[in-house]
Amino acid sequence: MTAFEQRVLVTGGAGFIGSHLCDRLIERGAEVLCVDNFYTGRLRNVAHLRNNPSFEILRHDVTFPLSVEVDQIYNLACPASPVHYQFDPVQTTKTSVMGAINMLGLAKRLKVKVLQASTSEVYGDPTMHPQREEYWGNVNPIGPRSCYDEGKRCAETLFFDYHRQHGTEIKVMRIFNTYGPRMHPNDGRVVSNFIVQALTGTPITLYGDGQQTRSFCYVDDLVAGMMALMDTPADVTGPINIGNPVEFTMRELAELVRELIGSSVELVHHPLPQDDPRQRQPDISQAKAKLSWEPRVPLKDGLAKTIAYFDGLLKEIDGAPNR
Ligand code: NAD
Ligand code: UDP
Ligand code: UDP
Repeated sequence: MTAFEQRVLVTGGAGFIGSHLCDRLIERGAEVLCVDNFYTGRLRNVAHLRNNPSFEILRHDVTFPLSVEVDQIYNLACPASPVHYQFDPVQTTKTSVMGAINMLGLAKRLKVKVLQASTSEVYGDPTMHPQREEYWGNVNPIGPRSCYDEGKRCAETLFFDYHRQHGTEIKVMRIFNTYGPRMHPNDGRVVSNFIVQALTGTPITLYGDGQQTRSFCYVDDLVAGMMALMDTPADVTGPINIGNPVEFTMRELAELVRELIGSSVELVHHPLPQDDPRQRQPDISQAKAKLSWEPRVPLKDGLAKTIAYFDGLLKEIDGAPNR
């Protein structure tokens, strides 16, 4: 089947990553059904697609069964930032676990492949560095991040059990920190926080000593990796890390954001949140070998595009959260 004939379901399609995925799929000739309950997603992220005959949007919560006819499923529905996933932790676990069961049940009935947006959080606060897919992780099962981490781990378990038990074709992708235009300005993530703070002249909030590290992947690179994984033959199931292996401390990130914006706002220290991982960096040798994929956009270039997006947004909405 060619991409042109494909009808693709994207759950969480009105979110940050999902909306970019909808764009890329439509560009390559697919028909897209975006399913979202707008918990963190926003209509404005897909507003430009609403009159496109290849795009359809359905307001639906994936914790409930869904009966549609599609050729492929990308399961992205789940709040991703700590502020959002900790707001209603029970719903977060339900979304990961029951959402996975429903999307796997759908894939099983339709005999189509299904991709799970898993996360580097399955490694918890890792004791292996950088993280390889074989590493089982170091996760607190009862902490404030557990609804997300354990929900995503259980979803991975369900994906592999449907694969073994029912022969469902699965693709499990472990996404590392991703940034870019359409991030939610109030989601509390470090890239959006630092940019919005520097643009509005508010002090930049460094949690802890700022020496903890993350590796940031630009959203276009991430979506290219996601589609490359979906396109692999059936024997490639993952789990596979997709992220940018270039590691930065949060202090370095803050300094780069200030430099790019030309801002001299001060850096202020806030307490480090509980269970905040010290280090995170993907080992992407599997993605290079199996998908011929590696990230292309350097942090400086990706940040410049993200800053331009937030600058436009802040001017448009005058700093207020907006749907
Ligand atoms: P996001 O919050 O912008 O998008 C998630 C989308 O899912 C939103 O549109 C939200 O409304 C929708 N949603 C949430 N619960 C739902 C439900 N019960 N039913 C239907 N829709 C629901 O987050 P994002 O950054 O775009 O993340 C997308 C996916 O990628 C998530 O599964 C997330 O766990 C994963 N991920 C993201 C990152 C990252 O750095 N952004 C890192 C690792 C994994
Ligand atoms: N499911 C769905 N859409 C479908 C097929 C199944 O939402 O087209 C849901 C179904 O409601 C069930 C879940 O997927 O809750 C798992 O389905 P499966 O067939 O694996 O299990 P069962 O229905 O036997 O519990
Ligand atoms: N962080 C920070 N200041 C902020 C927001 C976050 O120093 O205003 C830190 C946070 O403690 C963590 C890192 O930045 O160490 C990445 O946080 P984020 O919430 O973006 O992602 P995650 O912790 O899920 O990787």
